[in-house]
Amino acid sequence: MTFMGTADNVATLAHELGHAFHQHVMTDLPVLAQNYAMNVAETASTFNELVVADAALANAASKEERIALLAAKVDNSVSFFMNIHARFIFETNFYAQRRRGPISADRLNELMLEAQKQAFCNALDVWHPHFWCSKLHFYITGVPFYNFPYTFGYLFSAGIYAMAKEGGADFEQKYINLLRDTGSMKVEDLALRHLGVDLTKKDFWRQAVNMAVADTREFLQLTK
Ligand SMILES: [Zn+2]
Repeated sequence: MTFMGTADNVATLAHELGHAFHQHVMTDLPVLAQNYAMNVAETASTFNELVVADAALANAASKEERIALLAAKVDNSVSFFMNIHARFIFETNFYAQRRRGPISADRLNELMLEAQKQAFCNALDVWHPHFWCSKLHFYITGVPFYNFPYTFGYLFSAGIYAMAKEGGADFEQKYINLLRDTGSMKVEDLALRHLGVDLTKKDFWRQAVNMAVADTREFLQLTK
């Protein structure tokens, strides 16, 4: 990776080390059991990012530094909750309309704009109706809805991180066991077996959302 020592570079390094750790704990498993699905592929990477982001925040030397570090975290939340959500809405509406026939470029612009306005709750000054042309993820035809896994992965790892903060010394082993089983179990079963949580209920997800909300509140407070 390109490493110039910026906070962003450190976050990327933490992210990639998460991928390396995920692979490392699965290394002795049969090859076919090491192949995990897209929805858990970013679990360890995002978890690491959260660990490093919070450690940096805890060690922030000034109010300005704290604001800058929080801004990066809030930026991430906006991407995962709104930008990616807009892509999901766009794809859902696109596929529904495509069943009835070809869709013109003008109509695609409209669909993109409507999706962004809905996902961002009309809060932006500038919109990007041509986003559908420029985003690679819409064109990977073998993997439809190749956007949603990012938000799922973010929330899943944020939920695990929230539990890790409260969990005792044995949480590390639970986390490792969960990662080891990512190639052989559905995510609902992974969570139930290793975390004792039911992903079909809202509680686990709410914990993850609450962390993002707390960061945003603090950011607004500090920048008043
Ligand atoms: Zn990644």
